[in-house]
Amino acid sequence: MTQQRRGPFVAAIDQGTTSTRCMVFDRSGRVVSRDQREHAQAFPRAGWVEHDAAELWANTRAVTAAALSTADLVAGDIAAVGITNQRETAVVWDRTTGRPVAPAVVWQDTRTDAICRQLGELGGGADRYRDRTGLPLATYFSGPKLRWILDEVPGARERAEAGELLFGTVDSWLVWNMTGGVHGGVHVTDVTNASRTLLMDLDTLDWNADIAAEMGIPLRMLPQICSSSEVVGTARQRGTLAGVPIAGILGDQQAATFGQACLRVGQAKNTYGTGNFMLLNTGTQRVPSTHGLLTTVCYRLGEQPPVYALEGSIAVTGSLVQWFGDNLGMIGSAAEIESLATSVPDNGGAYVVPAFSGLFAPYWRDDARGAIVGLTRFVTRGHLARAVLEATAFQTREVLEAMRADSGVELTSLKVDGGMTANGTLMQFQADILGVPVIRPVVPETTALGAAYAAGLAVGFWDSPDDIVANWAADRQWNPAMADDLRDRQFRRWRKAVTRTFDWVE
Ligand code: ADP
Repeated sequence: MTQQRRGPFVAAIDQGTTSTRCMVFDRSGRVVSRDQREHAQAFPRAGWVEHDAAELWANTRAVTAAALSTADLVAGDIAAVGITNQRETAVVWDRTTGRPVAPAVVWQDTRTDAICRQLGELGGGADRYRDRTGLPLATYFSGPKLRWILDEVPGARERAEAGELLFGTVDSWLVWNMTGGVHGGVHVTDVTNASRTLLMDLDTLDWNADIAAEMGIPLRMLPQICSSSEVVGTARQRGTLAGVPIAGILGDQQAATFGQACLRVGQAKNTYGTGNFMLLNTGTQRVPSTHGLLTTVCYRLGEQPPVYALEGSIAVTGSLVQWFGDNLGMIGSAAEIESLATSVPDNGGAYVVPAFSGLFAPYWRDDARGAIVGLTRFVTRGHLARAVLEATAFQTREVLEAMRADSGVELTSLKVDGGMTANGTLMQFQADILGVPVIRPVVPETTALGAAYAAGLAVGFWDSPDDIVANWAADRQWNPAMADDLRDRQFRRWRKAVTRTFDWVE
């Protein structure tokens, strides 16, 4: 690792599903400055979700400039920049013009269900690539999304084979733009993002040529895989961050795990955003899952051995709250759901299972679609608000149980972060339904913080991961207070409700 202390701060760019943030941190891990901007979500057909990659890059530039200028900072104040990103979202662009050839296909998008099914029919079904990649064949991952773009965009396959097109998850797209402009910069990704493509071998940490060939993906369009903490390039001279080393890349959930200081085997965090993602650090051992979890790379620092994680990914949690407001008009803002939910003592018997894009962990069912069950004449919008919040907590319990079964680790508390943790009613219900305390840290922006740590460690801004542990502090803890029989009865009902969503898509 290089030793080059520049400025007194580290910046992180967090390109998320709904918005892009730039945050600046000091050495104690406190936020010095920030800016955030939302981007358009396109839903052109049922099951499709798209972003405009050019907009993501424009917003990245805008929030970076604003985060620095509001605190009177210049590039020279920034020792390094780290990048964290919505994972699995696929971007393909022309290496000469820098233009994307299609809208970015977002992780929630299910258009690749036929591709995934056909690949599974070659033998092995959904587990065809699980040994090598740690992942089931599912619409969630980026390899099949890339295959879809090559199949459907006229001329794309020929151009990709001729070396004219590049693929990347959003981290690659941003680094390529940050380092080179129109004529192309550095084409890299990190191990954590690469581990979400279905194309990377978890042992070699390199692209698997056999899988790529089977999926019809030319290897030459894939980025070089780097560690999560090393200098991959330098921001180009004309931008806000001119000359600042880009020194860390982590997928958003891995970044949050890092920022939550889950650096020892058996430590876990759960992030409540658009979806929910629980990651358990399993150390340098990769633990295969037999209970519907993913085996993934947690982080890799420079040349050190990779650290693996078990992950429980839930597709729809915070986005159910958005849907409740945007599509049903029940609330004006996400925060309003709490007062509506507390206007009633319980869910009135109603359960909402948000299988909007099938179900992810622990079920992995593309054929499921959402359901509201237990309706009676008694149920009001207050009860539904409560059921919407509870859906997040029940899904989290299912993932926690799978974690226990796969790892043998008995979690005695859970570190949490993300937008929904602002909702104390949900957090109390979560502790009640899990039966373990739920703890939120002082700095809730753990995703950006984790990327900042990865970048700062690479340039010697922080000396070792011990600094991350020393900087972490709890803000609030919710303790379980629900009677066992009530907890069990509600969870049993939830499980029954989930079965009602199966076999819907024929
Ligand atoms: P992401 O990083 O995935 O874009 P965030 O961590 O910013 O997500 O969280 C945003 C999500 O949290 C949204 O889906 C929103 O509906 C939900 N959310 C925000 N505030 C609340 C709240 N007070 N209660 C429940 N959900 C909330």
